[in-house]
Parts: sequence; C-alpha cells; structure tokens
Amino acid sequence: MPPAEPTPLGSFETRAVHAGQRPDPTTGAVVPPIYQTSTFAQQGIGRLRGGYEYARAANPSRSALEEQVAALEGGARCLAFASGMAAVDALLRTTVRPGDRVVVGADSYGGSLRLLDSIYSDWGVATELVDLRDLATVRAAVGRPRTRLLLGETPSNPLLNIADIAALADIAHQAGVLLAIDNTLASPFLQRPLHWGADIVVHSTTKYLGGHSDSVGGAVVVDDEELAERLAFTQFAAGAVSAPMDSWLTTRAIKTLGVRMRRHSDSATELATWLAGHPAVQTVYYPGLRDHPGHDLALRQMDGTGGMVSVLMAGADHADAVRAARRLVESTRLFTLAESLGGVESLIGYPHMMSHGYQRGTPLEVDARLVRLSVGLEDPGDLRDDLHQALGS
Ligand SMILES: *Cc1c(COP(=O)(O)O)cnc(C)c1O
Repeated sequence: MPPAEPTPLGSFETRAVHAGQRPDPTTGAVVPPIYQTSTFAQQGIGRLRGGYEYARAANPSRSALEEQVAALEGGARCLAFASGMAAVDALLRTTVRPGDRVVVGADSYGGSLRLLDSIYSDWGVATELVDLRDLATVRAAVGRPRTRLLLGETPSNPLLNIADIAALADIAHQAGVLLAIDNTLASPFLQRPLHWGADIVVHSTTKYLGGHSDSVGGAVVVDDEELAERLAFTQFAAGAVSAPMDSWLTTRAIKTLGVRMRRHSDSATELATWLAGHPAVQTVYYPGLRDHPGHDLALRQMDGTGGMVSVLMAGADHADAVRAARRLVESTRLFTLAESLGGVESLIGYPHMMSHGYQRGTPLEVDARLVRLSVGLEDPGDLRDDLHQALGS
C-alpha cells in the first residue's frame, strides 16, 4: 500500500472536498486524473513508485476514494469495493469462519440477508435475525457461543426503523462481538457510526455517496489497524475492488454530499409531512416525523433524517390498498419506477415485489400496501404535484 498522507483538517464539508484530492504532481491538474491502468512501472525489482505495483492491490483513483471516505466516517482506513454486496462479503469473509454465528437486524438489506442465507449457510456460518430495537433480544442473541459479528442497519429499509448504535455497541462489546453498521441510507454526512462505538461501517456507495445513479460500488471503514490489515488482505486476495472510473465518479460525487443530503432531508421532510395529511395514505414512515417511533433517537444520533420516505396506502380494504399502492408507483411522472435510491433523481419503488421481493412468502415479507420513495433533488413543489396527480386527487 502507498504510504498514508495526512488528511486535511477541517469540518465535514471541507474534508469532503479535499481529503484524497491533492493536485496531480506532474501537471498540477486540480482534479486528480482517472488512473485507468492495471499495472505500474517499477524503477527496479520491487522499487515501486509511491507504493503502487498492480491495480488489484492499489490504484491511485481507488486510494483517493478510500482516503476521502475514511476521513468522512472518522475511521483510520477505508477499503473500496466493486459493489455494496462485495463490501459486505469481504466483511464476512474477514470476520467469520465455519461454525461461527452472525446476528443480523431482521430489517437489513435483502441482499445481505440473501448472502448469509443462501451462500454463507453452505459454508457453515449460522445467521440469527433480531429486531435491533429490542435490546434484550439482541443481548441474548450476541451472547450465544461463537457469535462473531452483529450486523445492523439504521435507518433500515424500507420501514426506516432507527436502532441505537451506542447501545448496540455496548451490548456487542460486552460479548466480545464486533458491531458493523450499514450506513448506506444515512451517509456519513447524517450519521457516523464509528463515533457511536461501532467497529465497522459498510456502504453501498451506489446510493447516496455516488449520488447520481451512475456507478455501483461499496466501502468498508474501520478504525482498528489490525482489522484494517485483515480486510485489506481479503480485498487484495479475493479481488472485488472498485474500478478506477467508478472510484473517480464516486469521489467527485462525495464532494457535494453535504449540500445534497441537506436538500434530500429538507425535501423528504416536506413531502412526508404533506403525505401524512393525505386521505389516500394510511401511515407515513419517516424518522423526521414526530410520531415516528425512532424520532427522538434519530435526532440524537443523526444530523438530519435523510431522503427516504415509505408510505402505507389506505383503502376500503386490504386489496383496495394494495391496488392503490400499485397504481401510485405506476402513475408518477417525475418519480421514476426503479430499484435503488439516493440519486439526484427521485425514484419510487414497490418493495413487496422489487427490492424485497426475495422475502415474499417469508416472515420478513414487506406489506403489499407499502410504497417507497427516494426523494431526489428536484424542486420539492414539483415532486408534491407529481404525487398529487398520481394519487388521483
Ligand atoms: C443497495 C444496498 C446494498 C447493496 O449494495 P450494491 O451496491 O447494490 O451491491 C447494501 N446495503 C444497503 C442498505 C443497500 O441499500
């Protein structure tokens, strides 16, 4: 690895712009180039320039992203991967062995549950699902023998449940278990889990960090050097690294993370408040609303409540509400019906059959009346008008 250079001092948004972004030493280019190269010329056998040898081990475009994300999460090291799932996979490969157990929030990202359930189970790793808000249950689960990892997500998807990171860290550490938090929905601008005691942060940078729906990527951030070395070895040995172009796009996007997240939060708050008073809507799930069960915790643990809003549709009966949900997601014009979240453009999704379709017919099935909104950066009045016309009133 190249030698770590000092991170520029400053507050979050200053670090977002400057961390890992030194002008190119050859030309002075203010934006470091995309190092679209697989290998690096050596000055003699093993005499590397800046520590770079082969791009699976390290590439300057990836190093820049890793330095930037580590600086924003407040961790010593970040490792950037080809996708969020590659990041979760590297985390699991590094922390668990056959016979070990992982305790996971039951409302975690479906892909993480699927990875544990359909791949890691075959390698002898057991998974126990828990409600992260029920701390007594979490304590009992992490206390069982050979539990190595507690993996949680807050806010969760699609119900935006809030888990108390500091309390989970206490429980995990008392049992000698590592706490990993998937910080994808919040982004480091709104929430920094390492600060609250988590050992590991994972991201799908595909979402808010990338922010423009134009790249797929993942990241793992830790503050412990020994754990960082083990993760770096997994990354190097298994090879699911972030490519130079994806790293560069993500780095560019992160420079505007602060302004984007503020606007996502403001617009989502405005729409959630409006939807809560709409007759076609039964329940709005948004941590920024006072009646959300995680509201107080969100205010304590986060610097804003984010851009995701979920809506349970009303109806004369269940079937009628299901029809209303399907009609809504197929009737918006600005909100695009698509998977994913966190981009500048607003998206609308139907978790029951899309993001969480894998859980249909299981106890984790998402309510068929639920619609999920990823509120983008368009004019919030235009977004409200779009929902208004799509709700048909
Ligand atoms: C999308 C997502 C992932 C998976 O990331 P990919 O980049 O799609 O592989 C993991 N966790 C959360 C919370 C996500 O939203």
